[in-house]
Amino acid sequence: MGHDLPQPRAVLGGLPAYKPGKPPTPVAGLTAYKISSNENPYAPLPSVLDAVRCAAERMNRYPDMGNTALREALSTYLGVPAEWIACGTGSVAVLGQIVDAMCDAGDEVIYAWRSFEAYPIVVALAGAFSVQVPLTKEHRHDLPAMAAAVTDSTKVILVCTPNNPTGTIVTDTELRTFLGRVPPHVLVVIDEAYLEFGTDPAAPDALALLHEHPNVVVLRTFSKAYGLAGLRVGYAVAHPEIAEALRMTATPFGVNLLAQEAAVASLAARDELEVRVKDLVAERDRVEAGLAEQGWVLPPSQANFVWFPLGEDTPAFAAACEEQALTVRPYAVDGVRATIGEPEASDRLLDIAAAWRAARH
Ligand SMILES: *Cc1c(COP(=O)(O)O)cnc(C)c1O
Repeated sequence: MGHDLPQPRAVLGGLPAYKPGKPPTPVAGLTAYKISSNENPYAPLPSVLDAVRCAAERMNRYPDMGNTALREALSTYLGVPAEWIACGTGSVAVLGQIVDAMCDAGDEVIYAWRSFEAYPIVVALAGAFSVQVPLTKEHRHDLPAMAAAVTDSTKVILVCTPNNPTGTIVTDTELRTFLGRVPPHVLVVIDEAYLEFGTDPAAPDALALLHEHPNVVVLRTFSKAYGLAGLRVGYAVAHPEIAEALRMTATPFGVNLLAQEAAVASLAARDELEVRVKDLVAERDRVEAGLAEQGWVLPPSQANFVWFPLGEDTPAFAAACEEQALTVRPYAVDGVRATIGEPEASDRLLDIAAAWRAARH
């Protein structure tokens, strides 16, 4: 292409590709399962589907740009004023709103690595600079190293807990110590996409920390525990000046009518959804116990997935899964993430993991 033609920004050429979970490859005689995107395996609740069907009758109209009903429902659920809440088209988009609101070109955003693969993309697109701090040997955030990485250019720090893809949490105590060290003008985003799957009492109380630290933002989504990944809705909870800035950097009318209605209906159906989450947690415990029995030593997961730190063996393990019509998520030569979904998929994962060990030990 000639250089006299319009050229996309150079930053696009260097962006890591966000690899969505591939559709499973069919294998004769086997039901294919996609356990590569941390999706909720349950079909939508009837009450949520009804709300979406009703909303569809009005889709000639724009949605409520202020997300009023959703923010009111979240306000009641979370016990914070509606002014503290900003919504977006998935929490990835809300993260984009955060970086757009806080960072000028060249400003630094610190986060752990490996962590959520959307982070480097969102940061680079905003023209900001990623500072990646390696996880510890236990596949956990190294919060002291992250605090030590703060410079005069640092505007935002992302803390992913439970961490995608390793499933580990930072503890409340660790996060409190960390917040005590971070300068108050640096925004600390606590990404709790998998919060609802956590059972460890040492996990942070992010909303309490938000009340104590005006530089904290809590990021949540309806995509995982609430099962609305296809509708794209997430939100941030922050002090009102920050929340207002996040509403200013949102795509106007971004969260669509169906998504707003589905999210409100899902909060109303919370008890039913919690039963499903409990079942997924029990399924995760079953898978972890099975793998431990086979001799695997994996980081304990507080999310709806497990992490196999396979290093160089990562592509081979993913290929072994693919041969059995099971799509998992390989990360280069770091490891494989497998979502806890249908029990049949977990059973197959356990069989493949057992055969893998038997062949190598
Ligand atoms: C899945 C996920 C999200 C949420 O993505 P949505 O855009 O809300 O679907 C946010 N953070 C992490 C770490 C995730 O894994």
